[in-house]
Amino acid sequence: MATLIANGERKHVVIMGAGPAGLTAAYELLKRDVPVTVVEKDAKQVGGLARTVEYKGYRFDIGGHRFFSKNEEVEHLWTEILGPEMLTRGRLSRIYYRGRFFAYPIKAVNALWNLGPIEAVLCLASYARARLQPVKNPKTLEDWVRNQFGWRLFSIFFKTYTEKVWGISTKELSADWAAQRIKSLDLWVVLRSALLPGRKAGRRGEIVTTLIDRFRYPRLGPGQMWERVAEISEQKHHPVLLGRSVTRIDHKGGLVRSVVTTTADGRTETHEGTDFISSIPMRELVAKLDPPAPERVRQAADSLGYRDFISIALMIDRADVFPDNWIYIHDPAVRVGRIQNFKNWSPDMVPDAGTTCLGLEYFCFEGDGLWNMLDGDLVALATTELAHLGICSPSQVFDGVVVRQPKAYPVYDDSYQANVGIVRDYLMSSLPNLHLAGRNGMHKYNNQDHSMMTALLVARKIATGGLLDPWKVNADAVYHEDIRVGERDLTGRQVPERVPAKT
Ligand SMILES: Cc1cc2nc3c(=O)[nH]c(=O)nc-3n(C[C@H](O)[C@H](O)[C@H](O)COP(=O)(O)OP(=O)(O)OC[C@H]3O[C@@H](n4cnc5c(N)ncnc54)[C@H](O)[C@@H]3O)c2cc1C
Repeated sequence: MATLIANGERKHVVIMGAGPAGLTAAYELLKRDVPVTVVEKDAKQVGGLARTVEYKGYRFDIGGHRFFSKNEEVEHLWTEILGPEMLTRGRLSRIYYRGRFFAYPIKAVNALWNLGPIEAVLCLASYARARLQPVKNPKTLEDWVRNQFGWRLFSIFFKTYTEKVWGISTKELSADWAAQRIKSLDLWVVLRSALLPGRKAGRRGEIVTTLIDRFRYPRLGPGQMWERVAEISEQKHHPVLLGRSVTRIDHKGGLVRSVVTTTADGRTETHEGTDFISSIPMRELVAKLDPPAPERVRQAADSLGYRDFISIALMIDRADVFPDNWIYIHDPAVRVGRIQNFKNWSPDMVPDAGTTCLGLEYFCFEGDGLWNMLDGDLVALATTELAHLGICSPSQVFDGVVVRQPKAYPVYDDSYQANVGIVRDYLMSSLPNLHLAGRNGMHKYNNQDHSMMTALLVARKIATGGLLDPWKVNADAVYHEDIRVGERDLTGRQVPERVPAKT
């Protein structure tokens, strides 16, 4: 086994999970000649939440994956890995509400025009009322957005979709998420950007976060990026070990010694190393520690929650169904939350340009009614809802396939920060050679760039023995030495947090 010398120490790193975080760590470590073993529970493919599923030549994502980062190093890495295979695509996404399509990001004139004269006047009156009588110190998402847009626009453009995604009333979601995600955006800013199209800057000169209209995308979907990294790893004689689920993490004397994996046919393997990187869900990681973590830590990990996701890909016998990359479905009459049109992400996502593959996205909880439906019934539901929305007729749908994705979103409830803190502090002090990276690995609802940046830092920390800390990466995937880890909101909030309901 080739090994590297870091601070005079021979290293071998075991990486749990071959999603963007695990594979970025492997890529960086192999560049530095540190040998790795990557174990992945999926038996067929790498990429995790950013994998691309292939079905009869049709390729689709688990939710469309835009490649966009404010972190230049991550952008550069994507180019380094895929070169000209990275396409730059224009973004078109609209909102569907009660039979009408609205531009998204919201364009005031378009929105008011589409609503019709009466509803438009009512919306403007409702906005005026909100400005004259704002909710003081808005704590909930509902109050914050109402202050910016008025109640009527809030109920059309924010309420139903947010509730579909999170399964929680907007009255119980915290305001700070909206304040960060749609910062600088109120009806006045939207109107100004519509009337003076050259001006996209927000009040303080920053680009308004939701107005980004171009992104990059691999020609064959996001999975192409991660399949390429797995290929590079294999060329360097460190193939990703697929179909290996981590079932036990053995530690002794304050260090993790090995990871035990089990295959579907019950074969177990032990992977020894000097350092261990986990990108598997934090809740699962703690449950697999042997000897077990203290009761307090296990309870904290067990309390972490997730929102799950079903993607139903429907194949349609029509070349052009709609021009958007995706459409948000705000209409409360259907359960679908978003519809992707994958050939508009990249034409090579379909094998036949005369056909279309749509991904209908349903947000749910593992084990609920939707999750437990039979695949055939889910395909039928998606087909009926497409027809209800007037997007295509059932007779044009010639095939369909269902992908269930557990733990798509780490949930930020009112105790998650404390719980993550308990697990993080325990691992840092008791098992310093076990490093966390990535989205569910750190229980952070962030994009690939963030997952990758945390992995890069962990890999460098291991390779160099430096003091880099992945918890100091903010929501924009930028490393900030001066972030005080664990303090509320300093690393940026990307999802709403549940707040106590108003009485
Ligand atoms: C619907 C949706 C849309 C998204 N859109 C975007 C977007 O537009 N742009 C963007 O940049 N990001 C997007 N993301 C986020 C992006 O997918 C994640 O940030 C990224 O995939 C996280 O990478 P990761 O490696 O941390 O975790 P994951 O992708 O979750 O990878 C973890 C890996 O660990 C494996 N694993 C889990 N348990 C075990 C075990 N016991 N043993 C072995 N292996 C295990 C899993 O199978 C998986 O392969 C989206 C996510 C979702 C759900």
